Amino acid sequence: MNRRKFIKDSFIGMIAVSAPVSISAAALGSCTKKSTTTGSGIKLSFKPYELKLRHAFNLAKYSRTTTPDVLVQVEHDGIIGYGEASMPPYLGESVESVCKFLNNLDLTQFNDPFRLEEILEYVDSTAPNNRAAKASVDIALHDLLGKKMGQPWYKIWGLSPEKCPSTSFTIGIDTAEVVRKKVEETAPFNVIKVKMGLDNDKELVEIIRESTDKPICVDANQGWDDKYKALEMCNWLAERNCLFVEQPMPKEMFEETAWLRERSPLPLVADEFLQRLPDVKRAAEAYDGINIKLMKSTGMREGFQMAQLARALGLKVMVGCMTETSCAVSAAAQLAPLTDWADLDGNLLIANDCFDGMKIVDGKITLSDRPGIGVVPINA
Ligand code: MG
Repeated sequence: MNRRKFIKDSFIGMIAVSAPVSISAAALGSCTKKSTTTGSGIKLSFKPYELKLRHAFNLAKYSRTTTPDVLVQVEHDGIIGYGEASMPPYLGESVESVCKFLNNLDLTQFNDPFRLEEILEYVDSTAPNNRAAKASVDIALHDLLGKKMGQPWYKIWGLSPEKCPSTSFTIGIDTAEVVRKKVEETAPFNVIKVKMGLDNDKELVEIIRESTDKPICVDANQGWDDKYKALEMCNWLAERNCLFVEQPMPKEMFEETAWLRERSPLPLVADEFLQRLPDVKRAAEAYDGINIKLMKSTGMREGFQMAQLARALGLKVMVGCMTETSCAVSAAAQLAPLTDWADLDGNLLIANDCFDGMKIVDGKITLSDRPGIGVVPINA
């Protein structure tokens, strides 16, 4: 079925999220959770929610104006935890695949949500891949547990909130005129992230430098497939107050990336190259840092482990996100005190955020005392 038609059909009768909300079977349309459950433990519900982007999002390989998303809830003893799966098309998941994955789960067999290892091992074992779907359950369970403990996760992990970095704000690939306008929107931020990988890369930076000297970071999204060109760009960017370059070359060009790292004056950060915990060790052979995203790592549990392993291997740590609501962004922000750099602007890129959560104050990620992942649903 056409994805857009599927989402539209699934939206018929969809309810706006307000606290606390129980998603009715009717509202879920074709994504209703089956009643094939075996216990009285954790209850799972979910619904599709199409994210509308403020600007068309242009990357080296495609452009889009919406992102498919599924909102998830777990409930235990009257406490609700919120989660979310965001599925930018290039990652291979869809509303259909996420709903299918969630429909096959039976969390009612678990009566104690504190058995997180056991529950998430079960979730991970039910099907390969499906990383965003797995993340949605992981985030919701973390939210639930944090609420039961009355503490946010950064505190449970023992992290100091003042160590949160500034977040970058992203400027996608666009015409010179649009980029000039977008630079104005970056005023509240301390770091500007520039998407690259087309022929006008230098022009983009020159336009930004017409109006601001703020540090930039560059995400080539695998767009430079010649190592000499990549090195030339790294040298050029190093003279223009650039902090690092994310995924300069295609992920398959591992040897070339290792070659580039030996020569680049700027740190190289792996994004598309790595997904989960076992990938971190390999990344250390060709990159200086890793970009952890919950939709890749299957959620907060493994994201935290990835950050710890990266630190132990001497890598820089960055936390990023997809275009997603404040739900998943706030979950990722719990990790921020462990990171050197953050790119948590996904919620700011959408026009229909349905959660209130992590705030940016003076450009910095600012964590609150709210328990769990620190979010409250609001009417979309
Ligand atoms: Mg990236």
